[in-house]
Amino acid sequence: MYLKKLEIHGFKSFADKITIDFRNGITGIVGPNGSGKSNIIDSVRWVLGEQSPKTLRGSRMEDIIFNGTSHRKPLGMAEVSLTFDNSEKFLPIDYSEVTITRRLYRSGESEYLINKTPCRLKDIRELIMDTGIGIDGYSLIGQGQIDGILSNKPDERRQIFEEAAGIVKYKSRKLEAEKKLSNTNQNIVRIEDIIVELE
Ligand code: ATP
Repeated sequence: MYLKKLEIHGFKSFADKITIDFRNGITGIVGPNGSGKSNIIDSVRWVLGEQSPKTLRGSRMEDIIFNGTSHRKPLGMAEVSLTFDNSEKFLPIDYSEVTITRRLYRSGESEYLINKTPCRLKDIRELIMDTGIGIDGYSLIGQGQIDGILSNKPDERRQIFEEAAGIVKYKSRKLEAEKKLSNTNQNIVRIEDIIVELE
């Protein structure tokens, strides 16, 4: 699986739609300070489900929508799409190409799509879980993050190995099952109380 294409429209400094095609080999992005290189990485984090404005170098999520310049009006919506080649079915979905899209309107309304079909953030998280491409994955290494990984507590470092080993999916399902079990147990206790009261 490899990253094929990134499309950005209305995200931070990218008022006009831009498309970056990633070909085989290494792609380098160069440009003067403030030209938007880090905004490209922010857009990848965002489309993969980043929820923290601080991680995206803003204070509110709306800060990621193009907010205008002296000769251009602010936009009302930001949209980013990331396309993966999935011909080897690395992602657990029956398509040879997978496009993940996220939109945010200034009203605060947001949308997630997989291959143009609306979905939940949970669906995107599950799709990319254990692939290393999630926001907590090891494919996106930001400035200073290597130092961070080396000085992390053992528990935090373990998360990186667990993602690489492909067991995050099972841990997350186990947590969900435990939550359901605990809810069911509470319901049973409540029903037993009602039965005692009725007897
Ligand atoms: P450096 O090399 O200094 O790290 P860079 O190329 O990585 O710079 P970025 O940090 O990606 O640059 O881009 C910063 C630019 O993005 C700033 O000019 C900032 O005004 C602009 N910018 C950020 N958010 C928005 C927004 N919502 N609307 C318009 N422009 C924005």
